[in-house]
Amino acid sequence: MDFRFNEEQERFRKEVRDFLEEEIKKGSFKPQCDGWIEGHSPEFSRKLAQKGWIGLAWPKEYGGQGRSYLDRLILTEELLRYGAPAASHWFSDRQVGPSIIAYGTEEQRKEFLSKIVKAEVFFGVGMSEPGAGSDLASLTTRAVEDGDNYIIDGQKIWSSGAHIFTHLYLVTRTDPDAPKHRGISEFIIDMNLPGITVNPIIDLTGARHFNEVFFDGVRVPKRYLIGEKNRGWYQITPQLDYERSGIERLMSNYPLFEALVQYVKETKRNGKPLSEDPIIRHKLAGLRVEFEAGRLMVYRVAWLLSQERLPNYETAMTKTYCSEFQQRLVHTALGILGLHGQLMPDSKWVPVSGRAMGSLLFSPGYTLQAGTSEILRNIVAMRGLGLPSGR
Ligand SMILES: Cc1cc2nc3c(=O)[nH]c(=O)nc-3n(C[C@H](O)[C@H](O)[C@H](O)COP(=O)(O)OP(=O)(O)OC[C@H]3O[C@@H](n4cnc5c(N)ncnc54)[C@H](O)[C@@H]3O)c2cc1C
Repeated sequence: MDFRFNEEQERFRKEVRDFLEEEIKKGSFKPQCDGWIEGHSPEFSRKLAQKGWIGLAWPKEYGGQGRSYLDRLILTEELLRYGAPAASHWFSDRQVGPSIIAYGTEEQRKEFLSKIVKAEVFFGVGMSEPGAGSDLASLTTRAVEDGDNYIIDGQKIWSSGAHIFTHLYLVTRTDPDAPKHRGISEFIIDMNLPGITVNPIIDLTGARHFNEVFFDGVRVPKRYLIGEKNRGWYQITPQLDYERSGIERLMSNYPLFEALVQYVKETKRNGKPLSEDPIIRHKLAGLRVEFEAGRLMVYRVAWLLSQERLPNYETAMTKTYCSEFQQRLVHTALGILGLHGQLMPDSKWVPVSGRAMGSLLFSPGYTLQAGTSEILRNIVAMRGLGLPSGR
């Protein structure tokens, strides 16, 4: 077992860091927390595309670089460390592209993968519905065959970025009479199709990042069905592994962590440096220990993928641990910062560039999105421990 990165990987990490530091110097972005989900900048995505950093691990024949999942992890880790605005292409790169590679037709691969890697199209994910979140297989959005098309009617909810993305990876019901896991199919949806309405949902931070999306008689050509009709459920499961195990589950608010350590180094309270306060030191050291443990879990999943082995309970375990770490980080930060930490970013008194309050308000979502902690613990109990499924 070797925990070191090889020279090529170290060189690549440095190349990414140099690029991001240069971009910050040029003013192309300001580091932000949750930049992979809230930081939409097609322009920044195009800069990454020019470097070949979208679809890094995809086959070269589809415009990728044929690099390993570990290389992709190094890249995403640095994007998050620097708080880069990578939301526009994140879902396409993380899960939609790999799904099209695995299940799409050759025509779909040629049409979409080359556009994703050039940051010409951006995908969101339309899975959840008002009555189907954790129990996703209960979804009711219908797709009915009609000549060369499917006609789609129904509603999605919590669709991140649907007001910005050009396309949606949509999960629908195609056979209402089959057992619920066996009547599901997936489609590529152009968001400009007639009959699609996107309504904003304002989140706790006051930002618009997710939406309700309504489908009213939307006609989708049959060639945009992904994979096999009615086998969609079995295609979603591996996609969720990609969605759950990325390092964004650990590092969404990493810029807050770095700013907090810096704050403690620079700040005195009652005449004494905070960095000498034993309680604060222990809290920060505890976070560091948890961070390193989470990082190893994420790297383990990337290693499994790079060996072409499918992760099983490991992704559920990783997402649970890492997303709960992120919540502990925010709460620890606010405990250390005191009441000033709750000021909004535009206050002149706010510490750590106002990152703490935004992260606090966003943090309940960490343990809901991509599978709640309760659902993921059930998966670990069943697949990791061999316990029977709960009722
Ligand atoms: C920030 C954010 C971004 C999101 N982006 C997207 C997106 O882009 N696309 C998309 O499709 N969806 C998105 N979602 C939705 C997300 O996938 C759902 O919120 C999630 O699957 C949970 O579903 P739900 O909200 O309906 O909660 P529910 O499933 O109703 O769960 C409510 C509570 O009940 C618990 N619970 C439910 N079933 C069980 C059980 N069997 N055992 C124990 N406890 C249970 C849950 O753990 C939870 O605490 C996003 C969510 C968030 C927070």
